[in-house]
Amino acid sequence: VLKARGVRKRFGDTEVLKGIDLDVTTGEVLCVIGPSGSGKSTLLRCFNHLEKIDAGRIWVDGELVGYEPHGTSTEVLRERRPREIRKQRERIGMVFQRFHLFPHRTAVQNVMEGPLVVKGRPRAEAERRARELLDRVGLADRADHYPAQLSGGQQQRVAIARALAMEPTLMLFDEPTSALDPELVGEVLGVMRDLARSGMTMIVVTHEMGFAREVADRVLFLDQGSAVEEGSPDRFFGDPQQDRTRAFLSTVL
Ligand code: ATP
Ligand code: MG
Repeated sequence: VLKARGVRKRFGDTEVLKGIDLDVTTGEVLCVIGPSGSGKSTLLRCFNHLEKIDAGRIWVDGELVGYEPHGTSTEVLRERRPREIRKQRERIGMVFQRFHLFPHRTAVQNVMEGPLVVKGRPRAEAERRARELLDRVGLADRADHYPAQLSGGQQQRVAIARALAMEPTLMLFDEPTSALDPELVGEVLGVMRDLARSGMTMIVVTHEMGFAREVADRVLFLDQGSAVEEGSPDRFFGDPQQDRTRAFLSTVL
């Protein structure tokens, strides 16, 4: 589903991503962990074309993100048109730390907005599907509430339903529970766990080591813009190979 090769990104003088290679296959759950400032959010934003990369290539569903081969040589790349970029983004669902729901729309209106406006689905169908998705995240009885009437955990579950409404092939999560009160974290992680079990391909930036250990197929440790170590949760947490990984784990476990 996703392939990245030699992805580099700098902001001014700081190189934030120093050549990242990554493969995520269909149905796989990759958890990305690492210290603050290591480049985790930037990496996700590059996948979603919210940041332009300085070097390297990213493919989603086999299609080069942001650029397309032009002419005879594949090394000549043409920047995609905004409309094409939007199409590429539609395939990727993203859930952020903050929920970014439309405050003046109810939960169901938030969820049906994308299918209605972007995909041009009929209103009745979009609404039926939105209610199904809200049911799936345990919010059938909150569908007609406004964001302000919902807890943080409920709002985040609406945000997940909203991303799913676009029928993405890949879901990106950037610390989806770190802005939540501790007692609300579990309900959001539960929805994410169910989603993983349903076969969704997911990349999850998280500080929840328990979740990573239980749900991830692979864990990636990012430090200062480099992929320091990658492995199965058992190996990653049980027998980390790198000193930097061990040092980091000793601060969070
Ligand atoms: P956290 O765990 O705190 O969310 P992170 O691993 O997600 O951290 P990033 O947000 O990717 O880290 O940031 C990596 C580095 O890039 C940081 O040093 C940050 O200050 C810098 N950075 C991020 N976005 C920008 C930007 N738009 N302009 C300049 N510097 C940026
Ligand atoms: Mg971040």
